[in-house]
Amino acid sequence: MKFHAFLIKYGEIGVKGKNRYVFEDALVARMKQVLRRVEGVFHITKEQGRIYVEAEGAFDYEEAVEALKRVFGIVGICPVVMTEDAGFERISQVVLDYMKDMYAGQKKTFKVHTRRANKRFPMESMEVSAELGKRILDLLPELSVDVHEPDIMLHVELRSKIYLYSEVIPGPGGMPLGTNGRSMLLLSGGIDSPVAGYMVAKRGVCIDAVYFHAPPYTSERARQKVVDLAKKVSLYSGPIRLHVINFTDIQMYIYDQCPHDELTIIMRRYMMRIAQQIAEKEGCLALITGESIGQVASQTVHSLAATNDVCGLPVFRPLIAFDKEDIVTIAKRIDTYETSILPYEDCCTTFVAKHPVTKPRVDLIRKSEQALSGKIDRMVSDAVAGEEVVEIR
Ligand code: ATP
Ligand code: MG
Repeated sequence: MKFHAFLIKYGEIGVKGKNRYVFEDALVARMKQVLRRVEGVFHITKEQGRIYVEAEGAFDYEEAVEALKRVFGIVGICPVVMTEDAGFERISQVVLDYMKDMYAGQKKTFKVHTRRANKRFPMESMEVSAELGKRILDLLPELSVDVHEPDIMLHVELRSKIYLYSEVIPGPGGMPLGTNGRSMLLLSGGIDSPVAGYMVAKRGVCIDAVYFHAPPYTSERARQKVVDLAKKVSLYSGPIRLHVINFTDIQMYIYDQCPHDELTIIMRRYMMRIAQQIAEKEGCLALITGESIGQVASQTVHSLAATNDVCGLPVFRPLIAFDKEDIVTIAKRIDTYETSILPYEDCCTTFVAKHPVTKPRVDLIRKSEQALSGKIDRMVSDAVAGEEVVEIR
């Protein structure tokens, strides 16, 4: 079957009252953005609470579906056959061609559901469904009718044009990008943080990212891996400004001045402080991390509390109660997993103590940090000033 249009089903945004148009416009804007990369010319129209994508001439069907499957806010993508309203006989012919093409030879049950939005159409919707059902059965006797739980629900919509569809390809759900401000993702080369970014973006939040590297302790390949991960996430989240911060001097200084069992916590506190400065500069309202309770020493509840101690902005940790297995499942689904497991070291592994504290006390950590005073603030502002920005689009 050759389709030239899609009906887009969207979920939660349907219930937003007066703000509804804001959400719909954001959804349409994002759809336009992803379809620009697909071969073909597309027109997106809103009509009575429905969004349609129509292709002008030839287009790459698979690519268009793949692109739409990454647009947050979309619940279902229905490939539609559209035809002019040239009377019932003509519609019936199109319906029969459609059913034959899609389902001939299959032992399935079906139901016709007609919606008559054009009230001037000369037949009642029940009448249309019944008559079409009868003709489909005559043509394809291997099918049978089940009005309660049909395998195939054939939708016939009588509007200014006629629309037929029976397939719903699941979309990602969530909320359209740009409907919920912007946040700063702390993106490492691991499995977790790309998933965390994806999950928050799915709620309509645009994201930027910050990566701390420590050359020469971390390699160029480790940095490239983070760029590659940002690209994968941006297929869903839209453009990302990736801030690459050189963390080497800060890390060395902490290493020299502070107790080694507290290194990781103190380093993480500095990452948060720096991320926050960049977030504020970029107009981000929150930070996002891939932390999950108990995964490593720096993610015990005590450690999370000690890290959080320096954060003024809200910190979103969407994976906080997820098991690793569940995170991996999402990482595979969004195609970040294979990149995440490439073996290049990240900047934490180089400076990890053999026996890090698992129950750090905030008062003691603050005290240890006093050894850094004065000089560290300048190092932080130098690191921020020396950032490299990679535009991911
Ligand atoms: P991930 O799989 O995301 O790397 P992880 O399990 O390795 O996480 P940690 O290394 O403790 O955990 O990092 C916890 C979180 O801190 C990460 O999810 C990420 O948000 C942030 N983070 C860690 N290292 C970096 C880094 N080098 N640059 C930016 N953010 C980082
Ligand atoms: Mg990590």
